[in-house]
Amino acid sequence: MPSVFIKTYGCQMNERDSEAVAAQLLARGYRLSPSEHGADVVLLNTCSVRDFAEQKAISKMQNLAGAGRHQDRPPLLGFMGCMAQSRGVQLATDQPEVRLVLGTQKIHRAADYIDDLLAGRQQQVVDTAEEARSQDAIRDHLPAAGAGRPVTAFVSIMQGCNQHCTFCIVPFTRGEERSRTIPDIVAEVNMLVSRGVREVTLLGQIVTSFGRREYPVLAGKSGFVQLLEAVQAVEGLDRIRFTSPHPKGYGEDLIGAFGRLSKLAEHAHLPVQSGSDTLLKRMHRGYTRERYLDLVRKLRATHEQMAVTTDIIVGFPGETDEDFERTLSLCEEVAFDQAYIFKYSPRRDTPAASMPNPVPQDLIEERHARLLALINRLASAKYQSLVGKTVEILVEGPSRKNATRFEGRTRDNRIVIFPGSERHRGHLIRVRVERAGAFTLYGDPAILGLEPPRPAVSEFPERDALPA
Ligand code: SAM
Repeated sequence: MPSVFIKTYGCQMNERDSEAVAAQLLARGYRLSPSEHGADVVLLNTCSVRDFAEQKAISKMQNLAGAGRHQDRPPLLGFMGCMAQSRGVQLATDQPEVRLVLGTQKIHRAADYIDDLLAGRQQQVVDTAEEARSQDAIRDHLPAAGAGRPVTAFVSIMQGCNQHCTFCIVPFTRGEERSRTIPDIVAEVNMLVSRGVREVTLLGQIVTSFGRREYPVLAGKSGFVQLLEAVQAVEGLDRIRFTSPHPKGYGEDLIGAFGRLSKLAEHAHLPVQSGSDTLLKRMHRGYTRERYLDLVRKLRATHEQMAVTTDIIVGFPGETDEDFERTLSLCEEVAFDQAYIFKYSPRRDTPAASMPNPVPQDLIEERHARLLALINRLASAKYQSLVGKTVEILVEGPSRKNATRFEGRTRDNRIVIFPGSERHRGHLIRVRVERAGAFTLYGDPAILGLEPPRPAVSEFPERDALPA
């Protein structure tokens, strides 16, 4: 059967979409290729958040097409995801070797189209149309049994975004917010747990907006908090995470959930974007610096070890030295555990792209470097402060940095490397932190506690198909 290689750019939502496509293709007998070399089908799952991400995917495709011209059987080439949605047919016009362009609401049609293209029933497919209930379609997971089974999994709970921040292309690439149903999501989490998964990350473009239309507020709880409660009740699941949220979504109900729901991990991602009220307003963020700081205080009051991470944009149009200083001072005040810093990239059709006073590129670079140094200093101090402490980790598997070691994650989302073995995979264990590196902790070999073993995955019934 043909082999397929999928290269993923961008966020966790894209990773999840790629996994769903890979699972679909495997179910039809395709093989997954570890690289593009020798693959019969190569798909690039693209990101549009910044121009840089788009250019990387376009140049990769040009290379693939160029290499294919010297091959007897060139691979079938396709684009999927956000850039496929926003650029559509243009991608196939610019690069005629591209035979598949699949928009964000059509991910689940990938296998059908690839079958048709390989069989010669179609020569080229460009499908970027909207599709009702496409949010329900991202549910297939790669089968995993025995050793190597994943302990953590992404679960897509919604698609789209109604926030319309002035810098952001996502509402144009992912469409209006659409949520899945709570029973459907819970069934997927149950299925994952039956395969040995112990931690799920609930995914959405603005995940905290889950169910805004579909689930009215009940006893003061938003649809998202109702979902968290339903997932908390899944037996055998140890931890719940979610991304990417919006600060506006952290109402009293969600803040309270961190104190109340034992499985909800102590990590709040809180994208701030800027520390200046002037910019926050022009970005259309819907909160002020003071309101944001208040949120951080309330979140940290729920747990001693609550990690707060963020996204920040430097060089938004009109950002003055004073605005930037406000961002620096906000970072100092919050003492973020980690931050993703983005250089502003003008995106087509977004209001910010035509705002006056663009910041010169060299100034963006300078501000980026200053902010990065600050964030690294703050984050490193947090890591150092954990040396000598005992932390609970969920063991995920061999370390990606050092294959002779194992790694797990703390509840507040820090990687800990320790001298473990396969028998630790999927277990919650307590380790003493011996030392801290850059964004990694190293655990004491003396494992203080190991919870009782769970049944092996093979002892669970195979439940691949989810109820309709
Ligand atoms: N939930 C997030 C929020 O509250 O904004 C949105 C996640 S967004 C898809 C990921 C991050 O990309 C944003 O938080 C922002 O920092 C960054 N981003 C989006 N558009 C950008 C642009 N035009 N230039 C640079 N960074 C951008």
